[in-house]
Amino acid sequence: MDGITIALSKGRIFEETLPLLATAGIEPLENPETSRKLIIPTNRPDVRVVIVRATDAPTYVQYGAADLGVAGKDVLIEHGGDGLYQPIDLKIAKCRMMVAVPAGFDYANAVHQGARLRVATKYIRIAREHFAAKGVHVDLIKLYGSMELAPLAGLADAIVDLVSTGSTLKANNLVAVESVANISSRLIVNQSALKLKRARIAPILDAIAQVVNA
Ligand code: ATP
Ligand code: MG
Repeated sequence: MDGITIALSKGRIFEETLPLLATAGIEPLENPETSRKLIIPTNRPDVRVVIVRATDAPTYVQYGAADLGVAGKDVLIEHGGDGLYQPIDLKIAKCRMMVAVPAGFDYANAVHQGARLRVATKYIRIAREHFAAKGVHVDLIKLYGSMELAPLAGLADAIVDLVSTGSTLKANNLVAVESVANISSRLIVNQSALKLKRARIAPILDAIAQVVNA
């Protein structure tokens, strides 16, 4: 496609990216919360938005099915970032990746004993790197959601999950015991699209960088 395709996920990323796109003069003409359309036109005939699952945004951009996109740092670390240029931290969808355990579980002691810790998470790569850097042996158990249940049901000793307010942890009698990383979303760009469509993409990046850094 000669125009520009932008991959966004519904929900917080779409909502928080809208004002940034507006500064670049781009306004989607439909709301993905109410429209079932997955390809949304914008006020600019040469720019369209495609609605993807949050974890799929880097994949669309990597293969050039989208030129630009927005993805959480969590998703980018798990994806690996191949083929992607990540020029701007948008400072949106902020949260923190944390280790959490049931209230009363002696995490510091468990870690120091050198015993294997069973850790359930959706973020296998982030968890593996975190515990490897600490020299802690872990058995990682991949889950796709409701991580909070795992320690309560006896599946794992600990979880690695995103935390914003902490209310879900609290409601399930879990406590965050360690910070793994601060998370926010980044603008991602297909590396070859940036070269081939520089005249169209560069002004969008410049406008967004200017508001984000203001
Ligand atoms: P779904 O919620 O549809 O299962 P998802 O969790 O992958 O999919 P979102 O909830 O939209 O998608 O999250 C998108 C990104 O926003 C995440 O990758 C993360 O970077 C960030 N995020 C997730 N949860 C929060 C939160 N509670 N507060 C702020 N940012 C968050
Ligand atoms: Mg979510």
